[in-house]
Amino acid sequence: MASTHFEAVPELASDADATGRDLIVMKFGGTSVGSTQKIKDVARRLVAAREAGRRVVGVLSAMGDTTDELIRLAHEVSPHPHPREYDMLVSVGERISNSLCAMAIRDQGHEAVSLTGSQAGIVTDTSHSKAKIVEVRARRLHQELDRDRIVLVAGFQGVSTDLEVTTLGRGGSDATAVALAAALGGACEIYTDVEGVFTADPRIVPDALKLATISYEEMLEMAATGARVMMARSIEIARSYGVPLHVRAAHGDTEGTWIREEANLVLEKAIISGVTHDTAEAKATVLSVPDQPGVAARVFRALADAGVNIDMIVQNVSAQGATDISFTLPKTDLPAAEPILEMLAKEIGAAGVAYDDDVAKVSLIGAGMKSHPGVAADMFEALADAGINIEIISTSSIRVSCVVRASEVERAVQAIHERFRGYAEERVNA
Ligand code: ADP
Ligand code: ASP
Ligand code: MG
Repeated sequence: MASTHFEAVPELASDADATGRDLIVMKFGGTSVGSTQKIKDVARRLVAAREAGRRVVGVLSAMGDTTDELIRLAHEVSPHPHPREYDMLVSVGERISNSLCAMAIRDQGHEAVSLTGSQAGIVTDTSHSKAKIVEVRARRLHQELDRDRIVLVAGFQGVSTDLEVTTLGRGGSDATAVALAAALGGACEIYTDVEGVFTADPRIVPDALKLATISYEEMLEMAATGARVMMARSIEIARSYGVPLHVRAAHGDTEGTWIREEANLVLEKAIISGVTHDTAEAKATVLSVPDQPGVAARVFRALADAGVNIDMIVQNVSAQGATDISFTLPKTDLPAAEPILEMLAKEIGAAGVAYDDDVAKVSLIGAGMKSHPGVAADMFEALADAGINIEIISTSSIRVSCVVRASEVERAVQAIHERFRGYAEERVNA
């Protein structure tokens, strides 16, 4: 985040609500704007916030499956869509929902204006389809807010330092909303199709528990390991700029989950925050690599130079001067990685490369595991009792992750969640 620069506007941070911020950024996800009726409902929510005296910025995702549909079109026309044109195309979905919402707000008797990411001053780096926001030039936003308008900003997109349209990666409207809240000194509410952040994906563990609060660190680990409910990058921005986030249901008024810095006292009690899973990664193994200095460095430097994101790495103890190196990478990076690995395997004298995209990762997250021995052992036992084989293990100070067969990952999530249910209940009731 070193080069990131958001224009903070401290004078807006006055005293209107519990967070002490009178400007509010309200973000609505794809399902929550999935029909014109739902867009009118969202318009009513934005108007209600305005009538309560807040300055209101709305960030809407594309309607329903629009983004998936646009991506499908791109691949139907071209196996490797040109990155610039891809972003021109997939950024369109958010223009539709935000302009429709501005129309609905006007019909409800309030002033509103919709802006593209570029018009809203969301400046990104130049990496198409996974651009990072580097600056928010908030002048236009302030002008519109000063005209008493509800401002709608198309999520998931920006304009690069080369003046091209960019998109921020799947789930990127979360990043738009948090960056705007950081730049405008506002509060940020994330409205979605679940009631908050749960101890596991409620679609897989129907009796998962809703967390009242979760720290940035825990939420970042959960998001990075597959909890779709918040985009990982948005949590990094929130943490850097101290933006408290409230994740809640788009329909109804129930309190959701607060993501913020937690008091140590609560964290010490909180052994776990959740179980996550991710089916988007594949496993690659470079076979029978000569056990010599510099081999791993060459393999991973070449992959890094090609922009391939490596996650877990294991290297076995060598036998007879050779060893296997296995690692995981996003399935979408396989086409870029395969030719590089084939070439490297020859150069370094490895026996070959094996690929396996039938794997998935299950992770257990919890800030309290730092000071609580036995968490990993309990997790491995839960998997063993369910007859699930672990293929790769990796850990951080607040996370344990295991690669398992893809077909077993839902059972793995359920088994681990069941084993830690007691801790989850303790935390939720604390
Ligand atoms: P939106 O379109 O509102 O951004 P997403 O589909 O991106 O919504 O994220 C919400 C979904 O995330 C939920 O429907 C839920 O299935 C999934 N999810 C995965 N893990 C979790 C979790 N731990 N807590 C809540 N939701 C989760
Ligand atoms: N519409 C984009 C996506 O589907 C961005 C978002 O919804 O946050 O990924
Ligand atoms: Mg999302």
